Amino acid sequence: MRSRPIAIGVLALQGAFQEHIRVLERFPGVAPREIRRPADFRSDVAGLIIPGGESTVMAKLLADFALLAPLRQAVRNGLPAFGTCAGLILLAREIDGAPADRIATLDVTVKRNAYGRQLDSFATSGPFDDEDGFPMTFIRAPAVTRIGRGVRVLSMVDGVPVAVRQDNILATAFHPELTADDRVHRYFLGMVRGIPTRS
Ligand code: GLN
Repeated sequence: MRSRPIAIGVLALQGAFQEHIRVLERFPGVAPREIRRPADFRSDVAGLIIPGGESTVMAKLLADFALLAPLRQAVRNGLPAFGTCAGLILLAREIDGAPADRIATLDVTVKRNAYGRQLDSFATSGPFDDEDGFPMTFIRAPAVTRIGRGVRVLSMVDGVPVAVRQDNILATAFHPELTADDRVHRYFLGMVRGIPTRS
């Protein structure tokens, strides 16, 4: 049995970070930690969630608060990371066809705001991994338009990948934290428990 709780960092510069924290609080043995400054990102952080929001704003704040380099290095070194929506964009290697200079560790290309005006935001349900019936909320979501070699598609909706995994990185175009279903977070916590920590 684990005596100390597992610290999960939630990037808290902008966007829907509170919602992720609330989901994490429901899991016993998990201690969510808001990451706003490099000092918050200590070596006991065993996993990192990058929330939805506005990826351009978050990218600027990451650079302004000197968080970009340490986060990128940690994810490169194998820290389990889970990005939702804008978080997926920040993790992607290519954005709108151009090489990305954000965290850029996930070998996919994304197209921002891919669903057009009429479908800006919508709710549906779909599969994830081997299970079905996941409620999915999309808000000005990106589409994954290219999948790199080591990337596994965990969910497709209307022929478009909406959840992908590459080793220690999980990303969804939808917002599981805005629904009552916590199975995607549970999956991520399973990744965290299965991957050795940094320290
Ligand atoms: N449209 C936003 C972006 O491009 C992402 C939206 C979201 O995170 N819900 O950054």
